[in-house]
Amino acid sequence: MKGEKDDRRINCREALHRVYDFLDGEMTPERRDQIARHLDKCAPCLKAFGFETEIRRLVADRCRDKVPEELRTRIAAVIDHEHKNGDSAHGVAKGAEH
Ligand SMILES: [Zn+2]
Repeated sequence: MKGEKDDRRINCREALHRVYDFLDGEMTPERRDQIARHLDKCAPCLKAFGFETEIRRLVADRCRDKVPEELRTRIAAVIDHEHKNGDSAHGVAKGAEH
């Protein structure tokens, strides 16, 4: 079977994008759950950026009012960086391959 479209398990990048969407206000309980679950299985991916604790707290709180601007900026920077690098996973969650 090809087309590894597993929408139940998101990868590290998707997790990051979703977190960013979350910060931007687009968060459904489903997405929140996906992020939380991803973090349970794959803490290194966000830990690599130093996001883990903050994001875990955000997800647990469901409180976007407390989103530190700095965190949003950092995530945006990582996503931006990743786009510039195309598909290469450089700098993204080293050692966190699934
Ligand atoms: Zn991950």
